[in-house]
Amino acid sequence: MGWSASKPGWRVLGVRVDPVTTEEALARLAEFVSEGTPHHVVTVNPEFVMTSRHHPEFRAVLEAADLCLADGVGLLWAGWLLGRPLPERVAGSDLLPQIAARAAREGWRLFFLGAQPGVAQRAADVLRARYPALQVVGTYAGSPAEEEAAGIIRRVRAAQPDMLFVAYGAPAQDLWIARHRDELAIPVMMGVGGAFDFIAGVAKRAPVWVRRMGLEWLHRLIHQPLRWRRMLALPHFAARVMAERFVGERAW
Ligand code: UDP
Repeated sequence: MGWSASKPGWRVLGVRVDPVTTEEALARLAEFVSEGTPHHVVTVNPEFVMTSRHHPEFRAVLEAADLCLADGVGLLWAGWLLGRPLPERVAGSDLLPQIAARAAREGWRLFFLGAQPGVAQRAADVLRARYPALQVVGTYAGSPAEEEAAGIIRRVRAAQPDMLFVAYGAPAQDLWIARHRDELAIPVMMGVGGAFDFIAGVAKRAPVWVRRMGLEWLHRLIHQPLRWRRMLALPHFAARVMAERFVGERAW
């Protein structure tokens, strides 16, 4: 367990999670942009881990990613319990505004794809108001439907972004990026879930003190009760991690 021969990084129930801080993640993104070749960044949370167990394509996508960030306090808890502590939570929703701040300084060009019509544009407006030098070179609600992919890829490529953020929900957004990675050929491509909704103010993020207590999942459950079925992944994840810790790897 631990470092894998194929890809470096910690593993939680077989899924790679890279032990990086937010600062280190930002430094990696800067390297990806200067390398110029396509890179896929994923924000792993317990739902990702549990989905990947019965979704071989998604599992392969996570395995092939260039950077696997620990989104979700559950990953931190698992890292601690398994004796492979992760330095901190690097949530996509926290990272996107920090990327925007850095992008404004470095001149990185961003494209926001996904969410309900108008939301990505509103998120771009909010970030541009905060960082006036920020270049959001395109926004589009788009769709994860395969028949629309060619048109969307043309539109995104025409804007020549350095970074593409995709909000199609999990796992659709990362499957879409991985399927079109070579046609998109953008230095940084990342699924961001509800990040545009939060930045645009369409959805409310948990207050900072709730996040600090590691209870953002509870806040989400209260405010979006329809997620309860998906959130059953959390206790299943916890049980599997405990089994790995106390019974051994074969338990899962
Ligand atoms: N979304 C979308 N198209 C879809 C499904 C979802 O644009 O077909 C958007 C949705 O509007 C939201 C984002 O994807 O802005 C993330 O949705 P959700 O909160 O379900 O994401 P998750 O928690 O799965 O990351």
